[in-house]
Amino acid sequence: MLKPGDTLGILGGGQLGRMLALAAAQLGLKVHVYVPDLDSPAFDVVSDRTIAPYDDEEALAWFAGTVEAATYEFENIPSTTATILDRAGKLSPSPRALATTQDRLDEKSFVAALGIPTAPFAEVSTEAGLARALAAIGRPSVLKTRRFGYDGKGQAMIRPETDAVAAWAALGRVPCILEGFVAFERELSVVAARSRSGAFAAYDLCNNEHRHHILDITRVPAGVSAATERRAVEIAAAIAAALDYVGVLTVEMFLVRQDGAETLVVNEIAPRVHNSGHWTIEGAVTSQFEQHVRAVCGWPLGSTARRGRIEMRNLLGDDVEAWPSLLAEPGAHLHLYGKTEARPGRKMGHVTRIFPLD
Ligand code: AMP
Repeated sequence: MLKPGDTLGILGGGQLGRMLALAAAQLGLKVHVYVPDLDSPAFDVVSDRTIAPYDDEEALAWFAGTVEAATYEFENIPSTTATILDRAGKLSPSPRALATTQDRLDEKSFVAALGIPTAPFAEVSTEAGLARALAAIGRPSVLKTRRFGYDGKGQAMIRPETDAVAAWAALGRVPCILEGFVAFERELSVVAARSRSGAFAAYDLCNNEHRHHILDITRVPAGVSAATERRAVEIAAAIAAALDYVGVLTVEMFLVRQDGAETLVVNEIAPRVHNSGHWTIEGAVTSQFEQHVRAVCGWPLGSTARRGRIEMRNLLGDDVEAWPSLLAEPGAHLHLYGKTEARPGRKMGHVTRIFPLD
């Protein structure tokens, strides 16, 4: 268990690392970030930084010696990096959680083995395998790289007229997974935490709207039945327990409506704090960032109670130019990530609005 004054190490220095570091500072911790990039949003708010590649074993060992606990803010950390930190007994979530969620085939197999619905899926590693997968899954379907996909990158829709071999070639012929297309009504996420002692706490279910595959708006409550909300939390709890998970995790799901009945289909697990949980900074008693810090430090979890009806909007690319009017808007909680270049679709900040409970 850490004590105030100890140092938390964070692998990755994007906006998630920045917001984690702010939450850690609030609890009296020092933060040391480890990043390969020369400039990172977290640098503005941390006490120490190491700039080195993720596979630099010497730098990692030195970093491990400077921190009492370590965590990560994104899931594409090489597994050898995670193993080095885990050897020092300092990393959570565990390398196993990271490995399971880094690979879409392992992730879907793991979820399906728990008896939780996923899209039908099949492995693709050869052209013959692609043909077999198409015969099994049918069209429309979605071809995704097993690793390193995010925000719709590394995937292709396979429509009835699509040349699937060309689509796979465009993805670099890397190992893939073919998933049946899920005709979903909405996209939902559960942001939840599990502590070292196995306590579990979930935030209210989030309803997520995307723009060009990038999260645009999160609304809470999600507007689903109480039974679906309960089921979503049960699914997240089962996944967290099966991974013996420590920290915040996010389970992305599709809501499918069939003959009026709501069914949940798990799409993805993020072993980290998540964009759809940013509203918890002002909208919940304990933010997802504080909750993650509490969990990885071996501290008790905080309350996930929500303070109102929530709308969180991402500021993507040029959206950030609205900052003066957002600052002038009473009750709008503006967060800017300190990034200088507003490339199209880049997450520059977000704004959370909290309305009185209906
Ligand atoms: P992912 O990278 O898996 O989160 O996918 C990005 C987005 O693509 C999701 O948020 C969905 O909007 C869409 N998508 C992914 N997989 C499927 C699927 N099997 N069926 C329908 N839409 C999907």
